[in-house]
Amino acid sequence: MTATPESRTGARVQRLALARFTTLGVGGEAEVWVVTNHEQLAEAMEEPYRILGGGSNLVISDQGVPERVIRLSGPLAERDLTPDPDLSDPDRIVTGWVGGGVPLPGLIRALQKLGYSNLEGTVGIPAQVGGAVWMNAGTRYGEMFDGLHTLEIATPAGLRVVTPDDLRWGYRDSGIPRNHIVTRVRLKLQKRTPEEVLAKMTLADTARKGQPKMKTPGCAFKNPGGVGAGRLIDEAGLKGTRVGNALIAPEHANFIVNLGGATAADVHALLDLIRQRVGVPLELEYELWPGEVQLGASLPAQWALEPT
Ligand SMILES: Cc1cc2nc3c(=O)[nH]c(=O)nc-3n(C[C@H](O)[C@H](O)[C@H](O)COP(=O)(O)OP(=O)(O)OC[C@H]3O[C@@H](n4cnc5c(N)ncnc54)[C@H](O)[C@@H]3O)c2cc1C
Repeated sequence: MTATPESRTGARVQRLALARFTTLGVGGEAEVWVVTNHEQLAEAMEEPYRILGGGSNLVISDQGVPERVIRLSGPLAERDLTPDPDLSDPDRIVTGWVGGGVPLPGLIRALQKLGYSNLEGTVGIPAQVGGAVWMNAGTRYGEMFDGLHTLEIATPAGLRVVTPDDLRWGYRDSGIPRNHIVTRVRLKLQKRTPEEVLAKMTLADTARKGQPKMKTPGCAFKNPGGVGAGRLIDEAGLKGTRVGNALIAPEHANFIVNLGGATAADVHALLDLIRQRVGVPLELEYELWPGEVQLGASLPAQWALEPT
């Protein structure tokens, strides 16, 4: 067994299976650094690292990853929704700091109760605030950048505080370079009634009705050229296909679910199969850690690639 190093700043360092930190529930071991303040974070960033949020967009290899995996905790996972008196008025609220490690679903519920609008379109996204901001997660009813006032970002060169205007953000993209870490944000919100906010949340929630309820990292592929990837996978006859304990969901073919005990290899095999059988190139929606596997490399014998 390899000894885990001590952190000089007091970060908690442990070798852990990453599966427990992902919504799919697969992933081997890595050295996990749980950091609760900027000093610990700076130390964790001294060696190659990855930042893990809610693990809701990840398929992590059964072998884990060689880099340190950083998780934000303590004050970096707390929220202060008190309106800043200097920046807020009766209609517009600018909050205190909300940590990058804060779970997004709980934040959205809390904002609804307060009658604070702008982020309710992101309801149902099982991310952390930092991960959701990093990729500007959202739905047709709204996205993270609808509600951001200020962002604090840890970069290899130190801490930066920026506004959305400083970033080239766009559709599912914050413009923040990979491995720059969103440590905290301040939110910019409109004052509404809780009922008004709830009504919009319900709309966004209703759009998810057909999605599977099992362990999954969300949609597997982006929609190519406006055509639903789920429809293409369904038309290729793959709905309900199972490899090991991973399944192409019968409810929606663009979701791969873990039936219990699935491995990353099972999921890779299904991704390969889909890419092989669907006639058009498909771009992955989620990330594979440590990197994209070669097409066909993970297919079990019964799914062997046909010669091209
Ligand atoms: C059931 C389900 C439904 C979903 N629905 C949607 C949807 O409607 N819309 C949508 O956009 N997405 C959706 N997703 C996908 C996923 O929730 C988003 O991609 C989300 O932004 C991932 O955030 P996370 O915190 O889980 O990040 P992770 O999955 O942990 O990581 C994803 C990436 O973000 C980086 N990251 C994580 N935290 C930080 C941070 N603090 N600073 C910088 N980078 C960071 C990671 O390094 C990694 O590169 C869904 C997923 C599931 C499982």
